[in-house]
Amino acid sequence: MTRHFNFCAGPAALPTAVLERARDDLLDYQGRGLSVMEMSHRSPEFVAIAEQAEADLRELLAVPDNYRVLFLQGGASMQFAMLPYNLLGPGGTPNYLYTGIWGKKAIAEARHLAGAHVAASSEANGLVAVPRQADIALSSDAAYLHYTANETIGGLEFDYVPEGRLADGTEVPVVCDMSSSILSGPLDVSRFGVIYAGAQKNIGPAGLTLAIVRDDLLERARPDTPTMFNYKVMAENRSMYNTPPTYSWYLAGLVFQWLKHEVGGLKAMNALNDRKAAKLYAAIDQSEMYSNPIALANRSRMNVPFVLADDRLDKAFLAESEEAGLLNLKGHRSVGGMRASLYNAVPEAGVDALVAFMADFERRRG
Ligand SMILES: *Cc1c(COP(=O)(O)O)cnc(C)c1O
Repeated sequence: MTRHFNFCAGPAALPTAVLERARDDLLDYQGRGLSVMEMSHRSPEFVAIAEQAEADLRELLAVPDNYRVLFLQGGASMQFAMLPYNLLGPGGTPNYLYTGIWGKKAIAEARHLAGAHVAASSEANGLVAVPRQADIALSSDAAYLHYTANETIGGLEFDYVPEGRLADGTEVPVVCDMSSSILSGPLDVSRFGVIYAGAQKNIGPAGLTLAIVRDDLLERARPDTPTMFNYKVMAENRSMYNTPPTYSWYLAGLVFQWLKHEVGGLKAMNALNDRKAAKLYAAIDQSEMYSNPIALANRSRMNVPFVLADDRLDKAFLAESEEAGLLNLKGHRSVGGMRASLYNAVPEAGVDALVAFMADFERRRG
């Protein structure tokens, strides 16, 4: 059996050690005589799995006590709608930073409900640099400020946490879509009102969505919020109002254990992610064949898009890289070219193999 290096943007690579552990548990979870997939979500066995996962996540991210951790479904895309339902009870206008395709989708969902104000945009620079704090112009009735920490398709990542301060000094909650960068390094959760992330990039398998919500924001839902959309209902029911995605929750828990015990925590993960990204960007910048357009300070560590100088070579690049055991390097259909996603579970050896392949391809075809 061979496990190739998988650079997929999502669903993405999982740590081999996590899959091995899941395999060992698959038919008979720790002598209980059944699989985690076959357990009641209300059984003591599953409740223990769920609580351990939450405790480990809280420890990894140092989540303060006044935040709830929710294990939801529907993906980040459902959060685009769930979020405005939950925060717009008192009214006001949702404010957004626009830095790419995911942010645009989030804005569109807010517009369905309440209209949205784009407080700053990267459109004028071609989505290659994020707005600076001084560029952010909130509406005077801003209900919250939403941004996308890492635009997965464009490969554009914030190098700071924006502040939601109104002209009169009032702070509005900062809300962040962290789908493709959560757990890539340490995070100061206290800067945020809500953080959410689909699981299938850095957390676990698809089907699970994480939300970290500050307590006071549980009281702001619009009265017409559907029950399943309501953060407060989910918090009061410990994310078990209905049947949660039990197996994805369990696998996410194994990933959290892996981060704690095998990686050594998020500081160590951060250093490794810095090193992986630096190696690939250096290879791109030193070559005559490959290029990446993003401003240096905003280059994503998780998603590295690059184009070949001659796009007639794209097909050969993809065929030969796959042949070499380097999977899923095709760029998103909306931007073309290539994209290498270097999430936590992609080992440094994978980046080394990719860099070696790219140099060899350039030598032969450049
Ligand atoms: C993948 C992704 C999404 C969409 O996630 P789904 O779980 O498929 O809805 C949203 N935002 C960002 C930043 C993403 O990377």
